[in-house]
Amino acid sequence: MIVTPKVRGFICTTAHPTGCEAAVKKQIDYVKAQPKTAEPKKVLVVGSSMGYGLASRIAAAYSCGAATIGVMFDRPASGNKTATSGWYNTKAFEKFAAVDGLYAKTINGDAYSDECKKEVIELIKSDLGKVDMVVYSLAAPRRTVGDTVYSSVLKTTGEPYTNKTIDLRNNCVSEITIEPATEEEITATVKVMGGEDWEAWIDALKAADAIEYNAVTVAYSYIGPKITHPMYFEGSIGRAKAHLFETSKKITEKYSDSGIKAYISVNKALVTQSSSAIPIVPLYISILYKVMKAKGSHEGCIEQMYRLFNRKMYGSAVQTDENGMIRLDDLEMQKDVQDEVTELWNKLSQDNFKECADLDGYWEDFYALFGFGIDGVDYEADVEV
Ligand code: NAD
Repeated sequence: MIVTPKVRGFICTTAHPTGCEAAVKKQIDYVKAQPKTAEPKKVLVVGSSMGYGLASRIAAAYSCGAATIGVMFDRPASGNKTATSGWYNTKAFEKFAAVDGLYAKTINGDAYSDECKKEVIELIKSDLGKVDMVVYSLAAPRRTVGDTVYSSVLKTTGEPYTNKTIDLRNNCVSEITIEPATEEEITATVKVMGGEDWEAWIDALKAADAIEYNAVTVAYSYIGPKITHPMYFEGSIGRAKAHLFETSKKITEKYSDSGIKAYISVNKALVTQSSSAIPIVPLYISILYKVMKAKGSHEGCIEQMYRLFNRKMYGSAVQTDENGMIRLDDLEMQKDVQDEVTELWNKLSQDNFKECADLDGYWEDFYALFGFGIDGVDYEADVEV
């Protein structure tokens, strides 16, 4: 079948198997070319098939030689429908890992469920004994608990917020007003994207004696600049991230006897399937790309995760800010970068958006998420989906 991109809103409903494999290989090759560290050795990645979770898995495997177990929620191909890109990414990762002699197995299931936790823990016990690191990199729109489905929302809290946005499909610059979330919506967002499930994973691993003494666990967050605060840091998702941060402290305290330490890593804003759904943020990302690429400080998920594993968490003492958070957004938040972003943001209009923002770079990354536009891939060729 010839696979072409079918973009609907901020999602692409097709994925290219060969393209996804080539994109995974590119990330692996990047890590292979970097210096290595000795730890961690047995890593569980929850949310392992795309974005930051996939990059974490690649960094752990190829930089530290770690055995990895991944958890994802992805769809295989059926009929003339392709699989999701996360599914292809994972098949590709497992294939390369096998060639390179690295243990890699993946459970495809709902990470929020008890059944999935049980299945993963059984796999850990039988194959690895215990894990010494748990990466929690879920980004999900909903979570089912019993008969209740909680849906997360991307809204403000308190006041509506109006600012610029760009409709990336037709390059139209306009104003958008984001309405405030209700208390119920905020509670649901915290249920989905807060720390409750992260803590449940650590509790389950500990109860089953499947996590090492002195293990570390990390979950990902975002802070960003003031223009995005009403939408993100102070919005409904920000409330969930605040809960995630409180959970990191709670886990560390709860398991202090076992030496388990939980961290939040504040990562850079990047194009992923999840971030493209957030209003205003894609425009910010396009401007940020423009500024950071010009300064030579732009990083993608794999560069970020390599730096997390090799500079911030392992190889020396864990490096945190005064609040105890790991800051991989250090380059993004540098004053000179943010000053330029603000200047471009203020000046951006329908007439000059091409000069002010790297929209081509945004789209390049967006298509690459689904295996499209990758160098060396023949998109005219018939592929087995
Ligand atoms: P992503 O959409 O690229 O990946 C999400 C992963 O979660 C996928 O592997 C998917 O299969 C998995 N997943 C979703 N629901 C699941 C479920 N029910 N069970 C099992 N797996 C499930 O997301 P991302 O952007 O890499 O985000 C990962 C984390 O990083 C999130 O906490 C996000 O807030 C954070 N973060 C993202 C950015 C950014 O700009 N993208 C910046 C900072 C922090």
